[in-house]
Amino acid sequence: MIETTMSEQLTIALSKGRIYEDTLPLLQAAGIEPLEDPSKSRKLIIPTNHDHIRLLIVRATDAPTYVAHGAADIGVAGKDVLMEAPTDNLYELLDLQIAKCKLMVAGPVNEKPQGHRLKIATKYIKSARNYYAQKGEQVDLIKLYGSMEIAPLIDLADRIVDLVDTGNTLRANGLIPLEHIADISSRLIVNQHAYKTKFAQINQIVQQFKTVIE
Ligand code: AMP
Repeated sequence: MIETTMSEQLTIALSKGRIYEDTLPLLQAAGIEPLEDPSKSRKLIIPTNHDHIRLLIVRATDAPTYVAHGAADIGVAGKDVLMEAPTDNLYELLDLQIAKCKLMVAGPVNEKPQGHRLKIATKYIKSARNYYAQKGEQVDLIKLYGSMEIAPLIDLADRIVDLVDTGNTLRANGLIPLEHIADISSRLIVNQHAYKTKFAQINQIVQQFKTVIE
């Protein structure tokens, strides 16, 4: 339980959907109960049972920005998002072991022989660039914001770099996973300044989260 004596304002950035749903049991273990359900409410600032603790409902890709700028003290972000975002001013404190999937290279089941530099369509430009640089392979990266699976089907790209969970989306589009880039899960991120100034409060939440994860 969060002690009532530590009543400095604490703001937690979270995205709706899977991250919110999977983080809720962790928040509850730390004695934090949201007073509204973000899937039903249009409110983007959700109060909790503690006057001084509130939730910010943000886009998944924006969570590191809110935390890095101190607009939120702590937040939850996927490793895929953190691998793409500037992470100055942030500590990645915990692997929450939620929203797990893999970042993978995928391509058509019957891939044509490649006589040219590979064209890779992806939302994950930085991760893909690092991956191919490590392999010493020169590729052309094409930035897309979604529906990456279409790209190899219409010859926009040879392969894609995307998140894979069950593999159903790939299969439905005649693609197969080819190379594993990284295991992905959501992480607890903390603003570096807030971690110093609100250490007791944040550390208490971290410890409570840990007991559930372990
Ligand atoms: P699946 O068909 O189960 O392999 O899921 C793949 C689709 O779901 C892809 O379009 C991904 O972008 C998305 N996806 C899967 N797992 C996650 C996750 N943990 N976080 C965000 N998106 C995910």
